[in-house]
Amino acid sequence: MTPQTPPASGVRAGHDANASEAPAAPEAECAVSAGFSARLGADRCPGALRPFAAEDGLIVRARVPGGEVALGTLRTLLQIGADYGTPRIQLTTRGNLQVRGLPDPLPDDVAERLADAGLLPSLTHERARNILAAPSSAVLRERARELDRMLISRPELAGLPGRFLMLLTDTSGLGLDERFDVAYVDAGDGSGVLLLGRADSVAGPGVGRGVSDRQRGNNPAVEEDPRRATHSPLRLGRVVSSDEALGAMLDVAAQFLAERADERVWNIRDLPESSPLCGSFAQAEVPGDPAGATLSPGVYGADLVAGIPLGLLEAAHLNAMESVTEHVVITPWRSVLVPGGAAYDAQLAAAGLIVDDTSAWGRISACTGAPYCGRAQSETLSLARECAETIGSKLPRLHLVGCERRCGEPRGEHVTVVSAESVVDVRAAIAVSSVTSD
Ligand code: SF4
Repeated sequence: MTPQTPPASGVRAGHDANASEAPAAPEAECAVSAGFSARLGADRCPGALRPFAAEDGLIVRARVPGGEVALGTLRTLLQIGADYGTPRIQLTTRGNLQVRGLPDPLPDDVAERLADAGLLPSLTHERARNILAAPSSAVLRERARELDRMLISRPELAGLPGRFLMLLTDTSGLGLDERFDVAYVDAGDGSGVLLLGRADSVAGPGVGRGVSDRQRGNNPAVEEDPRRATHSPLRLGRVVSSDEALGAMLDVAAQFLAERADERVWNIRDLPESSPLCGSFAQAEVPGDPAGATLSPGVYGADLVAGIPLGLLEAAHLNAMESVTEHVVITPWRSVLVPGGAAYDAQLAAAGLIVDDTSAWGRISACTGAPYCGRAQSETLSLARECAETIGSKLPRLHLVGCERRCGEPRGEHVTVVSAESVVDVRAAIAVSSVTSD
């Protein structure tokens, strides 16, 4: 393990709402982070038609605007992996789906199968279709699909970087903690606030969490994380009507493309503060929860949020879900919302899914690491499995990475351990951090 002393080294208790992003030419899991200063060109996020070459083969990434996906579509992706590469689907932090280990050149029938599954509605805009919606809202998921159709109809937006992220949410604040470029927060009264994704617009570190029925119990006080009270309701935005919101989001995206200096500028937060786009926004009050919230694994009414261990969806998970529902909603938190899944939680847990937030599996994540990523100085995935099984309930929120790029670092309080070689290394790193288990 790389020698570490917090916070500058591999052990870090992170409040990362304003963390710098990962460097250029990232491994494909760098969906969250990258460092502008090191960028050499256009982003290299993979797509369905433009795979990324990793150590273990090509990676293709499919976009699912709004997150709702038929299980038959997931079956197609799994089968592509089984036929040509790794029989798993990786869930990314933008709610996208990846299959990896594929041969180079990519077999012709991969694109055909993706198109047949409805994952390629546009050959020109496929990498631009990064649209998150609050997973619990069917209305917002439908609006995300509408936004996708509008995006595809505007030729100038085909050039959006693969890292440009749009978000539709409501007063729940779900998703506001993600690194979006432009978001619309629907107030539910025919209007809402259009938000610009600037580091200086973030109200504070994201610590908000959705509260499952189990967490809430009979105590209404559990609804509120006391840390949220410190968040300002003001962020960089402006009020727009609900009818105008989708067009306004795309206008922001178009203006970003027109104003960016060159293709090394991937996100709105990289524009200078003096840019006309930034100047056209002011501090606006965010309706609802300005800090942003996530949904942790657990029961939410009749539905279930099921965590996918290490974000790797396997055939056993899909088989179990197929006996419960025909579609799920992919979240950006390496989980799926299973409609009507609350009554089947034991069945889904038996298949290896994470069904409540007490599981150690729900508190650990890892980048791809060795031998899959060429930059990795250590293996991460099997070590993460070993940590979940041996450290168990004493695990804090933990993220293992194979190098200092720290791909996929979670939001909120956590410990990141760089290049650990054993559980002993990880235990030592946890011991010197200030982050504790729940
Ligand atoms: S080893 Fe991990 S953190 Fe480093 S570049 Fe590869 S995926 Fe990213």
